[in-house]
Amino acid sequence: MSRVMHKEEEFIMISALQHYIYCPRQCGLIHVDDVWQENLYTTRGNLLHEKVDTDTYETRGNIKTVRGLRIHSYKYGIVGRCDVVEFNNSTKENTVLPVEYKAGKPKNDFSDKIQLCAQAICLEEMLSVKIKRAEFYYAKIRRREKIEIDEELRKITSDTITAVREIVDNKKIPREEYSSKCKNCSLQQICQPKLLNRRKVENYIKGLYTP
Ligand code: SF4
Repeated sequence: MSRVMHKEEEFIMISALQHYIYCPRQCGLIHVDDVWQENLYTTRGNLLHEKVDTDTYETRGNIKTVRGLRIHSYKYGIVGRCDVVEFNNSTKENTVLPVEYKAGKPKNDFSDKIQLCAQAICLEEMLSVKIKRAEFYYAKIRRREKIEIDEELRKITSDTITAVREIVDNKKIPREEYSSKCKNCSLQQICQPKLLNRRKVENYIKGLYTP
């Protein structure tokens, strides 16, 4: 990851990082070709975020809760929005805690953690603070879960930003590759992931009959 500061027109959306982890082609279709289609999973997520993204704040005791805070990092060239940021001034350190709302339950991959780590690095740059942890709120199981913003997660996040930037800057959408993720992908109709396999089989058969 280069340490040059990025211009605002070069910023990529934090959501692109999650799309990339889900499928690099999905990331390319959405962030290069501007393609988007709702499905059950995206609609559920959006409904939950509509409740959270309200640009408001409230104070309870020592904790100030800000909703829908817009965030960015010139160092990493990313931009997005936090569902919730809690500012706690009861401790010596004055902690800043990003909290991301999820409709489902914890995932096995890094995509959600990368999103939260990207939010943390934006807040660190904007507020000149160090953020050691962040939290998810999972609506399905109605539970908060802490994650550590450690060096390993920061490195994976930084590498993912570099990979997404390569797709977006070069406007090169990766090829389709059919996997179990395709059946829940909102872009399945547009992407036609089975076509490539079909083309491969057709070429193979053609090859058999071509001297
Ligand atoms: S349908 Fe499959 S290959 Fe195509 S974008 Fe979605 S997950 Fe990726």
